[in-house]
Amino acid sequence: MARGKKKPPTAPEPTGTVEWLLGTCSVHVQHLMDKGGKRGYRSLFTSDESRKEFKKELYDISKLGITLRPWKARVFQLFEFEWTRREPKVMKRFSQEYLHGRAVNWTTADQEPGLPDQNNGDERGNRTYKDEATDWNRLSLRAWYREHMEWMRKHPFTNQLFLTKAEHIKEDQWRSVQQLLRDTFIFDVTATRELEITYSPFHPPEKATCVFLLSKESYKAIASKHGGERSTIEEHAKPILQNKELLYTGDMDRITSLDDFHKSSKGACMLYSIVRTGAATSCACTCIDYQMKETCDCSLAWDVKHGRIQIPEEKDIKVIGEETKRGGRRKARKGGALTFDQPRFSIPPKAPAATAPPPHPFG
Ligand SMILES: [Zn+2]
Repeated sequence: MARGKKKPPTAPEPTGTVEWLLGTCSVHVQHLMDKGGKRGYRSLFTSDESRKEFKKELYDISKLGITLRPWKARVFQLFEFEWTRREPKVMKRFSQEYLHGRAVNWTTADQEPGLPDQNNGDERGNRTYKDEATDWNRLSLRAWYREHMEWMRKHPFTNQLFLTKAEHIKEDQWRSVQQLLRDTFIFDVTATRELEITYSPFHPPEKATCVFLLSKESYKAIASKHGGERSTIEEHAKPILQNKELLYTGDMDRITSLDDFHKSSKGACMLYSIVRTGAATSCACTCIDYQMKETCDCSLAWDVKHGRIQIPEEKDIKVIGEETKRGGRRKARKGGALTFDQPRFSIPPKAPAATAPPPHPFG
């Protein structure tokens, strides 16, 4: 198809009457690329390198968040256009199977935040289930149902909890939230807008207060290249935040490649005021963490900054220190001494006291 000529197919419109979607596990979609034989795609690729790139692209697309759901059809279209040129055999089959037809719901855009776009959790329990419930026997439906119900009775799933309450937030996350608030201007250099956004595949779009802020990655990139002064961050943040905002307000034809789309989408986060009742934080976020776990550094830091969540004393870095237990921040040096790696970017000074904090946009 010629670029720019064909209008993107219409995105699936949530009607408010739909209660479920037929979902496809995104990890399975990606794994099929490695698989040989008739079911797999491996032999259709022209090179291993190209296959890995294709898989990486699938991963990025699978993380397309719910607020970008109206973009899904356009993203699929750009993907199809680009890869039909590079891997025609792969795309011929892939389009039919996962871009059109029944198995198209394999992105986080097809789920509300906190719900997975894959069934890895279930797969992990597969062995236990076979050990305990069916004893690895192939059973007739009637026999299986009896065994299954017997097993279910012993496993009170009603006791399961979503780990989304503030008290479930782990020490590492509390640390990084406090460091972000102290060492960066991410939560000071923001843009607030009232926008109509898609927050669920099951409900029509709604007006919400939306706050745009730099993603950690783009903040790091700016600070390490140009320095961490507030004015510098502000200057470089402006076009990045505007590009992200345009994804929600601008014309879709403006984006003509997947690269453009990913750049606009990954450069900044958008906090939005619509959350599930009982969520840990008062705002949701477009970042992958929030879409996957219904909590993230950005939304938690925002609530801490605006006094909506108190840092528990036993999680306060002034009390517990700054080191992270896990992760490779400490490296053994010659002579056995342990030293920290140099930070990649300089820590900017605290914001001048004269600047009054902006009013809480969700107030
Ligand atoms: Zn976030």
